[in-house]
Amino acid sequence: MVSSSQQKRYGLSWQELPITVSVEVEPNFVAIGHYHLAVGMNNRAWFYVLGESSVKKLKDMEYLGTVASMCLNSDYAAARFEGKVQLHMIESERSNTQEERETRLFPDTDDKNKILCHALTNDFLIYGTDTGAIQYFYIEDWQFVNEYRHSVSVRNIFPDPNGSRLVFIDDKSDGFVYCPVTDNAFEIPNFQPTIKGILWENWPMDKGVFVAYDDDKIYTYIFHKDTIQGSKVILAGGTKVPYSHKPLLLYNGELTCQTQSGKTNSIFLSTHGFLGPLNDLERNELKQVLIQTLILKRFSEAWELCKLLNDHSSWNELARACLHHMELEFATRVYRTIRNVGMVMSLEQIKGIEDHNLLAGHLAMYTNNFNLAQDLYLASSCPIAALEMRRDLQHWDNALQLAKRLAPDTIPLLSKEYAVQLEFTGDYVNALAHYEKGITGDSKFQEHDEACLAGVAQMSIRMGDIRRGVNQAIKHPSRMLKRDCGAILESMKQFSEAAQLYEKGQYYDKAASVYIRCKNWAKVGELLPHVSSQKIHLQYAKAKEADGRYKEAVLAYANARQWDSVIRLYLDHLNNPEKAVSIVRETQSLEGAKMVARFFLQLGDYGSAIQFLVMSKCNNEAFSLAQQHNKMEIYADIISSEDTTNEDYQSIALYFEGEKKHFQAGRFFLLCGQYARALKHFLKNPNADDTMAIEMAIETVGQAKDEALTNQLINHLMGESDGIPKEAKYLFRLYMALKQYREAARTAIIIAREEQCAGNYRNAHDVLFSMYSELKTQKIKIPSEMATNLMILHSYILVKIHVKCGDHLKGARMLIRVANNISKFPSHIVPILTSTVIECHRAGLKKSAFGFAAMLMRPEYRNKIDLKYKKKIEAMVRRPDTAEAEEPTTPCPYCEFLLPECELLCPGCKNNLPYCIATGRHMVKDDWTVCPHCDFPALYSAFRNLLQYESTCPMCSEKVEIMSLKKTADCTPYLKPEVEQ
Ligand SMILES: [Zn+2]
Ligand SMILES: [Zn+2]
Repeated sequence: MVSSSQQKRYGLSWQELPITVSVEVEPNFVAIGHYHLAVGMNNRAWFYVLGESSVKKLKDMEYLGTVASMCLNSDYAAARFEGKVQLHMIESERSNTQEERETRLFPDTDDKNKILCHALTNDFLIYGTDTGAIQYFYIEDWQFVNEYRHSVSVRNIFPDPNGSRLVFIDDKSDGFVYCPVTDNAFEIPNFQPTIKGILWENWPMDKGVFVAYDDDKIYTYIFHKDTIQGSKVILAGGTKVPYSHKPLLLYNGELTCQTQSGKTNSIFLSTHGFLGPLNDLERNELKQVLIQTLILKRFSEAWELCKLLNDHSSWNELARACLHHMELEFATRVYRTIRNVGMVMSLEQIKGIEDHNLLAGHLAMYTNNFNLAQDLYLASSCPIAALEMRRDLQHWDNALQLAKRLAPDTIPLLSKEYAVQLEFTGDYVNALAHYEKGITGDSKFQEHDEACLAGVAQMSIRMGDIRRGVNQAIKHPSRMLKRDCGAILESMKQFSEAAQLYEKGQYYDKAASVYIRCKNWAKVGELLPHVSSQKIHLQYAKAKEADGRYKEAVLAYANARQWDSVIRLYLDHLNNPEKAVSIVRETQSLEGAKMVARFFLQLGDYGSAIQFLVMSKCNNEAFSLAQQHNKMEIYADIISSEDTTNEDYQSIALYFEGEKKHFQAGRFFLLCGQYARALKHFLKNPNADDTMAIEMAIETVGQAKDEALTNQLINHLMGESDGIPKEAKYLFRLYMALKQYREAARTAIIIAREEQCAGNYRNAHDVLFSMYSELKTQKIKIPSEMATNLMILHSYILVKIHVKCGDHLKGARMLIRVANNISKFPSHIVPILTSTVIECHRAGLKKSAFGFAAMLMRPEYRNKIDLKYKKKIEAMVRRPDTAEAEEPTTPCPYCEFLLPECELLCPGCKNNLPYCIATGRHMVKDDWTVCPHCDFPALYSAFRNLLQYESTCPMCSEKVEIMSLKKTADCTPYLKPEVEQ
């Protein structure tokens, strides 16, 4: 019986018209089979054959009682009457030979059960009895094949189309699904006592769906046979029944009913909304529909819905449902779609597992249903999987319980893990118990046992059993355990035990710090050599200082590098200022310097106080102190040797200015670059001839490079301000400071001339020499006048040296040179000429002696001759003796011309020849040396000879050692003219 709407839905094109059958009585029961119709009344039934288009009466039958109900299949009829069922063939002619299969009465005669309900499928006669039995009679084999015993009588049964499941309703109006294959019955939830009947879904794809109905409502149920939770009946939802509709047939969610008028009408179950049009539904409606598909296990429809919904949670719901129903392939498909690689791989791994419980266990675990998973694993062939799961989940309590049963040897390991977790959560009591349980005492698990023992030690301490914990920790090989236990004890304020453990673990800094907390200074002192922490040394030092143990304190302060405290103790308590001072110098401690300064201040040693104030960068304090105690010179001295700021110099300068100490004021104005003020003070110096002041003035102008200041100084030197010209040497120095070397040279010549005129020949010589050297250094050509004057003055100086050594010939030669330039020695004309005459005479240079003697006879000189020599000289002139040996010759260093040895102008090459500073003779190439200080040339042999008697260079007056003289191999550089020609 297929309705027209179902035909439309499934595209069926045929339509069977209703057939009218006229019967002989008003029946009080009817039954229909594949090919037959039966109607009946009381104990009689009429059978009809259903043809293509007509119905033929087959036969009529009488039974042994009034028939309550009848069922047909293709071959058999089963009639129930008076607690019995009679099964018989409908068309009996073709099985004449099998008499005993024609008919049978149930129950057997010796069976006192009453049959309350029955049903007939193609293969079975099934009936329920008043004693709660459900019997399956297999028609093919003509025998009972199955019997189920229910606790109360079975009132009604409804097998599914192929007889593999049936719903029965018992005397208490409870409903059950019964599976003969597994012989299990499952209670139907929310089963209403008003239920009148059950219809199984006829659509072949939907196994397990059935409806229960009463007058008002239809309840859709589904029997899930294979889920990870086992088999179960689920109420999927309810649908209202229109008034007076009697359900007849269920096909894919469409229920065909008989109306009051006897016609049929179809209604759609509200639990099958997914079969209607989906495109018009809103999102939350789609979600509802998705839930329906999942309940009814319509995964293909669910897939389409998930595609429509296109969200992660929907796909995941579908996947979870697949896992629940152990549909691995479909689940894998879903997880692939949502790219859950982890789940895909997990499912791939368990794909081949045939053990239903093991597989279900895995799936239960994947859906976080761990208790179920454990039960399934335990029921499986691999119960240890339950333990592995609990261990992996760190469900230690469960794991331990399982381990007792499944793997006792893993208990210690699990106990330890559990203990660690308990410790972490602060459950120290249980942690201790489990650490203890973890100890194996087996040397193979030494590391494990040590970890447990460490746990026991720590937990004992935490629990207050300090003695046990400490003993354990000390016995234990781990340093770290001692440190950790120490830390716990410290937090519990058990300082002495904490320190003891730290010490045993060689954590000396920590040990010392804890000993400090419990004021065990003896122990601290003992540990101190091992302690690296400066903080601890400091704490110890402070404690010792508080105790007045200054020597120990100072040592500890030094270890802590607290230099200020070290200095303070040396000054205040140990009476050792020297040590304090040396530490201040060493460490440059500012605070320390301040303390030392205060110390000296108390002693009244202002100089030292100022010094240390400066060192501590307290320049202002140092300055005021210097001011108060009139020690500015000391301050000034210290400060000018330090790295000092201009402000400091200025303060000092202003101070001295106020005190009218012009020289000092000038000095410090100069240091801070205030040249005009500096110069003003230098020139104000009351001692006009104070050399230092003028030299500082020159230095000032030299640094200032300011024309006005220069002119001011020159005016001063010229005497224009006070009418007293100052010595020319200052002018010379000024020019030198200004690096105006030509002016300096000119001044030098003037100065030298003045000195010479005054008879200060050595001064004149030295002025010229220093000028000469300066110009040489500056690579400036030497004025020839300067060079000549220096040569003549030097010759004069050599005279004295030679005569002193008794070398009268050399002395005479030099005197001849001086006498030939006698105008340059105006103060000593007569004495020099006299000496020349005497020395020449003594050296046998009679002709020269006569010449100069004659000169002395001039009236302006004659009366000035020393009386000692006057007669002798007059005699020489009266009886002239002009015998004189020729002067020896030596080669010119330029041209080898042989010329007299004291001649300085070469007749051969017209060169002015360099002269020997030791003899005054001209230089020769192969006997050349120079003074190591002034670089002036000398004859090597002659200079060596001279140094036998003299220790200094006759030119520069510096000390010269004979050994330091080197013969110059190549004198060419010295032959380049350095004098203006
Ligand atoms: Zn020459
Ligand atoms: Zn020299």
